[in-house]
Amino acid sequence: MQHFINGRSVSASDGAAIELVSPVTESVFGTSAAGTEADVDSAVKAARAQLDGGGWTTMSGVERGALLNKLADLVERDANIIADLDASAIGRLPAEPLMLELPNGIGTLRNAAGWADKLEGRTIPTPGYMGMRTLSYTRLEPVGVVAAIVPWNTPFMITCWKVGPLLAAGCAVVIKPAEETPGSALHLAKLCQEAGFPDGVVNVVTGRGEVVGDALCRHPGVDKVTFTGSPEVGRLIQQTAGGVFKRVALELGGKSPQIVFEDAPFDAAIQGCAAGLFFNQGQVCAAGSRILVQRSIADRFSKTLAGAAASVKVGNPTEPGVQMGAVAKKAQFDRINRYIRKGIEEGAEVLAGGVPYTGRGYFVQPTIFGNASNAMTIAREEIFGPVGTIIPFDTQEEAIAIANDSRYGLGATVWTSDVARAHKVAHAVKAGAVGINCWGPIDPRLPWGGMKSSGIGREGGLSGVLAYTEEKVITVLLP
Ligand code: NAD
Repeated sequence: MQHFINGRSVSASDGAAIELVSPVTESVFGTSAAGTEADVDSAVKAARAQLDGGGWTTMSGVERGALLNKLADLVERDANIIADLDASAIGRLPAEPLMLELPNGIGTLRNAAGWADKLEGRTIPTPGYMGMRTLSYTRLEPVGVVAAIVPWNTPFMITCWKVGPLLAAGCAVVIKPAEETPGSALHLAKLCQEAGFPDGVVNVVTGRGEVVGDALCRHPGVDKVTFTGSPEVGRLIQQTAGGVFKRVALELGGKSPQIVFEDAPFDAAIQGCAAGLFFNQGQVCAAGSRILVQRSIADRFSKTLAGAAASVKVGNPTEPGVQMGAVAKKAQFDRINRYIRKGIEEGAEVLAGGVPYTGRGYFVQPTIFGNASNAMTIAREEIFGPVGTIIPFDTQEEAIAIANDSRYGLGATVWTSDVARAHKVAHAVKAGAVGINCWGPIDPRLPWGGMKSSGIGREGGLSGVLAYTEEKVITVLLP
């Protein structure tokens, strides 16, 4: 796979490439261009040219919206191709992206299309200036060239969360996909060209984060960096890009609590907790990986959830009956198994899984730890795998205190039949998105983002589009 710069597929400036490894077979199935600083410079220049007098700036919001709707149609046409690109790269079942990420990505593009001609300014009454009357009004202008740095876990959907809104706002972009998953971003960029976006508005530079991502964060032609990924890299980006006053948006990790009260709808809570742990092999930023269960039902709940975990059929996602594929890469496999060992060492009880897989491929059987404490490493750090930690609690206050005793604040779920309690707890929990009796209800119209170390800024809906605008105020004297 090559970069896509200024409407053309090109190799890395030095011809270097990265091998793409299947997590199911551990064999090389392709290569992608290993981008260089020179490649980043070409892509940023192509994007800049579109904003500094290029055709893109002359397009109205109506035209940008029409192009985005056309793009959404093309993504719909190619949904199976895109789902296969992402799923095979990280070893998961293509049915999952087809169920969640493609519809969400398409919905995001259409939602952004609808905002493109509604980015209105305001007229603001003031008492005047130096005794003279004035007229003041605002304009929402595009922030400029955006660098969109994307992770591998749900790459196409996250790319759409950035590209749809920034195009609606009139920005141009250089996308830096994760090393493991360049395919769907490259496909999207080619569909942008087919839809009629001017060449140079959407560019993709593939390659290593510390080379391509870092060069984008330092490049003087980039106005904003929008990043989804780990807090560790997020901090580096904040320092590099924020240090030279680029706008920075960060969507980072999580250790999201699922709080199950004794009056919870039991079966729905089991299903929701299982989905929150096992969807995409647990490689989900908002995975409900800390399960706080009221002590009176903790035994029954833990056994039932462990039964659900043990019954998941893990294996090659192309084989019939398989419910869970591999985790994305060797480093991920090692990381998850390291955390499982740590949980055992620190005294949590293994209720399901817990045994490392020794065959070919990076498979991890869903693992449930019971009777854990919130002080344990497995409750504090993001594992990013199919591993759940059950922590018993006694009172509502204690549940809230445990939920908030985390450096993260991305998602949370409250399971209860008591409406007042549901809302009280939802308000008290420090998280960007709270589900009541449902896990992970994301939607293109809703804002998405984290509190605390889970991020800075919001994507989704109007909040997502406004994030790519600058509010300019213009004042004229009316003598
Ligand atoms: P990562 O931080 O390792 O990599 C993310 C991206 O950053 C990749 O494209 C990578 O190449 C790039 N990168 C790496 N080093 C860089 C550098 N020095 N400068 C610039 N870019 C660099 O994360 P990952 O392992 O790909 O993804 C997993 C993480 O993403 C988890 O922590 C997960 O919670 C988080 N995530 C968050 C959300 C959200 O919406 N909050 C969604 C999905 C994933």
